[in-house]
Amino acid sequence: MEVLLYTILTLCALGVFSAVILYFVARKFRVEEDPRIDEVEKMLPGANCGGCGFAGCRGMADALVKRDDISALFCPVGGGDCMNCNKEEAEHGNC
Ligand code: SF4
Repeated sequence: MEVLLYTILTLCALGVFSAVILYFVARKFRVEEDPRIDEVEKMLPGANCGGCGFAGCRGMADALVKRDDISALFCPVGGGDCMNCNKEEAEHGNC
């Protein structure tokens, strides 16, 4: 009975210790992202088809926000209206 109790206590201590380490590691290596990427991603079709050359709409939104010249970027699913809207969003913060 004593062995079982020590085993449970040891596993609980290991679990708590691991959780504390993971918490601090997650805080240390947290990646701050531009909040505009989320806004632009919401305006894209969301098909994640890769037709734009990126793996999904998130990559396209990231490029739309970060690149200075976005004239080479195009979403064939959303078409011209989608791209005009996103260009304005990236430049002015509103569509
Ligand atoms: S082509 Fe359009 S819908 Fe497809 S992944 Fe790119 S942004 Fe998303």
